[in-house]
Amino acid sequence: MSTFEDFGLAEPILRAVRAEGYETPTPIQQQAITPLMNGRDLVGCAQTGTGKTAAYALPTLHRLGQKDIRINGRGRKIRALILAPTRELASQIGASFGTYGKHMSLRYALVYGGVSQHPQVRALNGGVDILVATPGRLLDLMNQGFVDLASVEILILDEGDQMLDMGFIDDLRRIVAKVPAKRQTLLFSATMPEEIRRIAAHWLRDPLTVQVAAVSAPAEKVSHSVYFVEQRHKPHLLTHFLQHTATTRALVFTRTKSGADKVVRMLLKSGIRAEAIHGNKSQSARERALRSFKSNQPPILVATDIAARGLDIDEISHVVNFDLPMVAETYVHRIGRTARAGASGVAVSFCDASERSQLRTIERLMRLNIAVAADQPKYPPREPAAAVQPARSNANGLAGASGSRRPSGKPQGGQRQNRQGQNGQRQDGQRENAQGQNSQGQASQVQTSTGSRRFEGFGTQKTASATPGQRRRRYRASV
Ligand code: AMP
Repeated sequence: MSTFEDFGLAEPILRAVRAEGYETPTPIQQQAITPLMNGRDLVGCAQTGTGKTAAYALPTLHRLGQKDIRINGRGRKIRALILAPTRELASQIGASFGTYGKHMSLRYALVYGGVSQHPQVRALNGGVDILVATPGRLLDLMNQGFVDLASVEILILDEGDQMLDMGFIDDLRRIVAKVPAKRQTLLFSATMPEEIRRIAAHWLRDPLTVQVAAVSAPAEKVSHSVYFVEQRHKPHLLTHFLQHTATTRALVFTRTKSGADKVVRMLLKSGIRAEAIHGNKSQSARERALRSFKSNQPPILVATDIAARGLDIDEISHVVNFDLPMVAETYVHRIGRTARAGASGVAVSFCDASERSQLRTIERLMRLNIAVAADQPKYPPREPAAAVQPARSNANGLAGASGSRRPSGKPQGGQRQNRQGQNGQRQDGQRENAQGQNSQGQASQVQTSTGSRRFEGFGTQKTASATPGQRRRRYRASV
């Protein structure tokens, strides 16, 4: 199919798609939309940035729009349920349904945890056709009798691998048990570990498998390099790197929330604008950070993996792994933030001796030798042994696996002041515990019958520290 019209999608959907400026369906849309319109189950191996949300949202809206939206004449019932691991992703999915469904009379609501449930309950009581939810809060509301899933026709699990990583499997089982067996089921996942395959085998029927990028394939046009550096020198290396590299948008990953905060403080001290995004930030702070990151004068964004997962931000020129990820596949997700939409990107990793084995695992997964960067700065005096000797090196220091290139060497716009040397702090902060979770903003958005959107219930609330979902919360709090 070369155009959206070719799919035979309902006119109000086409109108919305046209308004978004989409001309050609992306590969996953090409492959998925027709089978999904026909009610087929589907396993989609695709990352954010591939157009996967529209790939499932458009046919879902089309199918829901085919039937009378009121069941038993007593108001709306949840007919499509979309589960996502994080509130950010859930919000983006909700926004997509709002966009693509703006000319339809379907309503959707958004529920996720960490905030007052009242606005969400109000929205649910008002009747919704499409519910986008994170598993924990949904289960809480189900247990309180506020959610009835008996009318669900379409079940969509988005970022399945991430939901498993976050310990949501038991919640998912309980939720899926309440959804009618006769349904259409879609499972999207950036990677396809064995557990995801098992879930697909249990919950899906004769699914079509669609894969738009090999799981372990590095994003094309990303050049990868690694600096071997002692942990204590990483802050200095980061400031040096940012001051000597022309970046459009740079995203720095740390393993922990406290690590992200420390890096931001360190960058600010060095005169480099930076903001952190992680689970301890309020929703409004996260949104503010994202807005400024998307602006024309973006600060450096320092993020933990979960906070950054699923974010739809184009034009990230550099991804810096201040800490190497514990799980090699996370590296794939991180670098997936750059080199999008045909652009090229640079992925740089800072590797302490203790992270060598993680680096090797990443290289095995990616099937490449990550080039060793030789352009190390001089580290502050009074500190022994500047950088750890590279395990290997190559002639130009930065030859990448896929046409990699040396950072431009041009100073960054605005000539940031280097006040380095102030700091050799450790950044390998301990993983934080469950009780770190704090206030999160929340929105419950309802698409009204007139096509306008209502936002309900922005608010904050402290999360109780000990609840039945302790494992889940512990994980969410740590990242
Ligand atoms: P997703 O992978 O669903 O997060 O989508 C990534 C981005 O691609 C979003 O900003 C969408 O608005 C955009 N997008 C989705 N489908 C298309 C399309 N066919 N043409 C252009 N942009 C698209």
